[in-house]
Amino acid sequence: MKAEIIAVGTELLLGQVVNTNATFLSEELADLGIEVYYHTVVGDNLQRLLDVLNEAEQRSDLIVLCGGLGPTEDDLTKDGVALHIQKELVQDPDGMEKLQEFFRFSKRKMTPNNLQQALIIEGGISIPNPTGLAVGTLVTARDTSYLLLPGPPSELKPMVFQHVRPLLKELFPTKEQLMSRVLRFYGIGESQLVTDLKELIDQQTNPTLAPYAKPNEVTLRLTAKVSSEATGEAMLQQLEDQVLALVGEFFYGYGDENTLEETTVKLLTEHGKTLAAAESLTAGLFQSMIGNVSGASKVLKGGVVTYSAEMKTALLGVPERLIKEHGTVSEACAIAMADGTLKLTDADLAVSFTGAAGPDELEGHPPGTVWIGLAQKGQPTIAEQYHFNRDRQYVRYSAAMKGLDLIRRAVLKEK
Ligand code: ATP
Ligand code: MG
Repeated sequence: MKAEIIAVGTELLLGQVVNTNATFLSEELADLGIEVYYHTVVGDNLQRLLDVLNEAEQRSDLIVLCGGLGPTEDDLTKDGVALHIQKELVQDPDGMEKLQEFFRFSKRKMTPNNLQQALIIEGGISIPNPTGLAVGTLVTARDTSYLLLPGPPSELKPMVFQHVRPLLKELFPTKEQLMSRVLRFYGIGESQLVTDLKELIDQQTNPTLAPYAKPNEVTLRLTAKVSSEATGEAMLQQLEDQVLALVGEFFYGYGDENTLEETTVKLLTEHGKTLAAAESLTAGLFQSMIGNVSGASKVLKGGVVTYSAEMKTALLGVPERLIKEHGTVSEACAIAMADGTLKLTDADLAVSFTGAAGPDELEGHPPGTVWIGLAQKGQPTIAEQYHFNRDRQYVRYSAAMKGLDLIRRAVLKEK
């Protein structure tokens, strides 16, 4: 069973709209055990659509098209597919009734081009559109099935959930399904991760391992092709154990959406710990990241942005003499900032950031030099120096991420 997706729309080619339908449809098809081999984007042009259909028919059993089901001149997906398989367009009675009811109810005059939306391809199954007027079609010709869906995601998604999924399950029952699990890592680069996992990656057949690098973190997707969920779970668990035996030190959580800030907030909440921060080069970025997580109010007491040396002294009590002697980009200053914040806020943990964000050097330190301090009630305060590469925003973001990881590790250690 080979499937492919064709998104139709000039706006996609112009870069005005991101092809999120392809991502969504691929995920849904994978979930149904249908493998997608190609994504194509073609403009609103009949000849080019026909060319693409000709090629697709040679290689696919199921062709999913999205976009161009609307009432206007440039909506020609139905015409294109009908022409390609030499079928006529016919009226769908249900679609017709819905269309007429829509115009009756809204007391608007229906223009003739609206009728196009209630047309389906002769011999095809009509797919109702719960949130719009253009009906979809599933039609089979010469051993290839064509599924036509509208472009707006707000229409396409409900159609897939309510009608397409049950239909495809019935028409293309698959013995196997894909199950996947995403592991998230911080503190290890993609190249190091694949080096450490080389043996597992080289041996992979089922389940498979796919790394994906994001700024400051790497995710690893484990995918198993299975006949039952229980076997899948066991296979994924076994592979996860093998992976974590090698790089478990850097693992922080599961899932596509889960972030380091979410993990950190969750952990602090579970342990009933509160947090505060003193930010120089990050200028509030760290606290903003924490604030993005719902439930942050349970853990974040607050903090200060002390950008200048005077503010470090005035708000956090960092001695003037300490700054004169060591500078602000120093271990001593990071420790004094973290201590001052702990005292000021009475939080359980306080983190401090001071450094040279760049592009210029600061106090003789090259850009990217950052000290991060960590103060905890009842424990000696520590500070570590880091060197982050690249531009100013990346240095600031990397510092905030490192701060999150330090807190996460400190809380875990307490267990
Ligand atoms: P309409 O009746 O709204 O014209 P349609 O089925 O004709 O629907 P298009 O005209 O191709 O669809 O696209 C309408 C809108 O849907 C686009 O402007 C865009 O916002 C969104 N859209 C279209 N294709 C995609 C896609 N592949 N991914 C995400 N959004 C899309
Ligand atoms: Mg349109």
